[in-house]
Amino acid sequence: MINKTVLITGGARGIGKAMSEAFAKEGYNVLINFNKSEDEANELYTKLSEKNFYVKLFKADVSNRVEVENMIDYCVKEFGGLDVLVNNAGISQDKLFTDITDEDWDRMMNINLKGCFYCSQVALKYMISEKKGNIINISSIWGISGASCEVHYSITKAGIIGMTKALAKEVGPSNIRINSIAPGVINTDMLSEYNSEDINVLVEETPLMRLGTPDDIANCAIFLASDKSNFITGQVISPNGGFVI
Ligand code: NAP
Repeated sequence: MINKTVLITGGARGIGKAMSEAFAKEGYNVLINFNKSEDEANELYTKLSEKNFYVKLFKADVSNRVEVENMIDYCVKEFGGLDVLVNNAGISQDKLFTDITDEDWDRMMNINLKGCFYCSQVALKYMISEKKGNIINISSIWGISGASCEVHYSITKAGIIGMTKALAKEVGPSNIRINSIAPGVINTDMLSEYNSEDINVLVEETPLMRLGTPDDIANCAIFLASDKSNFITGQVISPNGGFVI
């Protein structure tokens, strides 16, 4: 039994849901954050609790500092600590660069980048005092290679990689590891912005000839959270089927 606690932002749907399930199965205590998906969160809570996994839910908008502080306080009080933070919550938007409004820009930066900043900063205050911790930031291949019509999204995902590398240097001496996962095209609700033709093209451009699954990413997160990756920090691992090499 692993006596560790993980907090997964956006943990009730898509990749986050697969990670909540995978970490619970590994024996972690799991705090599942959600913002809008209350029904999905309750359903997942019931499913995992019935299997006697120790999971809790917390509603918070990651772009709101006070809500993030309350969530991490709750995690430490309820589970007695916070060992692993997975910054997974994120939004995407398919829009021509010339059409992006100030509101689009701010929303993208606030959720994808500031959310990661708030959760990491608040968690790190606790982790540094404990002299241990592990943060996994979910970036994207588009943060590495750039996506047409998703410039503001690509910027946030590239920013997450920068944050991962810089923070890994700053907090490594406190025995805290920070890594990033940059998924390829993963079959979740986020793909609803693409039509089936776009998706076929993406599959054809993927050497392994398929979309990724949320489990492909969850398996990677389990590895990065485990002692098997003890000497890995500041790195970007990209499960993408060979789409970006
Ligand atoms: P998804 O199914 O659309 O899920 C997005 C998740 O983010 C939901 O759980 C949502 O929670 C949460 N979220 C959004 N805004 C939030 C906020 N303000 N506060 C807290 N949670 C918030 O997408 P997904 O594919 O699982 O994406 C998960 C992560 O993987 C994202 O960071 C995404 O950029 C990244 N990613 C996805 C792909 C892909 O192809 N799917 C590829 C590369 C990277 P609520 O519904 O509760 O609001």
